[in-house]
Amino acid sequence: MSIIPYTGTLEIDGNLVEWETTFDQSVKFKCTNCGYCCDSTNVILGFEDIHNIPEELQELRDDGFTYIKGTDHAACPFLTKNTLCSIYEKRPYVCREYPFKVTFVSKNKAFIDLIHSCESIVKEDYLPENEIDFSYLVRKSYYKQLLSEKPELSKELLAEAEIIHILGQPYNWEEIKARLFALLMKTGFSKPYKTMDLFTNKFYFIAAKGSSVTAAHKEIPLAQLQDKMLTGEAKQLMHRYIAMLFTRKLTQVDFAAALHILNEQNSMSSKELQRRAINRIYLTMLFFLNIIAEKNSHNTITSQDVKEAIFLLDATFLAPMEGIIAPLLNV
Ligand code: SF4
Ligand code: SF4
Repeated sequence: MSIIPYTGTLEIDGNLVEWETTFDQSVKFKCTNCGYCCDSTNVILGFEDIHNIPEELQELRDDGFTYIKGTDHAACPFLTKNTLCSIYEKRPYVCREYPFKVTFVSKNKAFIDLIHSCESIVKEDYLPENEIDFSYLVRKSYYKQLLSEKPELSKELLAEAEIIHILGQPYNWEEIKARLFALLMKTGFSKPYKTMDLFTNKFYFIAAKGSSVTAAHKEIPLAQLQDKMLTGEAKQLMHRYIAMLFTRKLTQVDFAAALHILNEQNSMSSKELQRRAINRIYLTMLFFLNIIAEKNSHNTITSQDVKEAIFLLDATFLAPMEGIIAPLLNV
């Protein structure tokens, strides 16, 4: 899949920074004010943000970072009934950055990635022009990332490597289903995951509970989840998404580190490990696709189901998987 990225060069404190997007120029983002991101994200506060948020609405968590209070389980308190931000001009950097993510791979090079759990992105609801200033994001991120210490190799990466290892087994849908489910239960994945019904634009939840999953208040016993057929279009979309995941520099950097660990432990070739990683993403998607197709009463998996799964999963693959996988390693 060849893309034509947005690119640019900036001078920051006498240092020349080249930046490039990992997505094509056909992406012309405009926020549709659906409210999803403000209702489902932990809102972390940077140094500058702290001055803009009343102290009583801040909370310092065990990880040493400060967040907007309550955003680990509820919508942001600044989200209005009309799904607008009541402190828009002073909103935190993380809110300005979403649905993009800037990562510096060196002092002079940054990549800008795209998060697909955003209504505008998943629906490709684009404008003739982008409403985002990438240079602004790169400049802000430069101070945020390069002035703070970067952990050598995060615990999340180690856990991710472990998951790749667990799921990189020969394909057996029943076994994978059981393994995934056990994993989801063990790692607290049973908290409700929010995704969007693209037919109605309404949000619904998927949660693992006991030996069943609940999707939009409908309980589906795990044993009843059938291995559904994918329509040709759905299959294509799914493969496109997975291929796209691997073209992201951020994913590549993360996976290269994870693969390195596994390689040392298991003396497997990088190619084999990469194949297993792709398998793992494919199977995780398949698991969610089955639940989503059940919820949409589809006998086959359609491209609409795939888009809903992407909406649900994209942040999971991109964002640190700490909450999901850290318990696996008892960290
Ligand atoms: S501060 Fe505003 S933009 Fe950020 S999560 Fe809250 S409501 Fe949304
Ligand atoms: S999910 Fe995307 S479209 Fe919806 S409010 Fe957030 S940035 Fe805007």
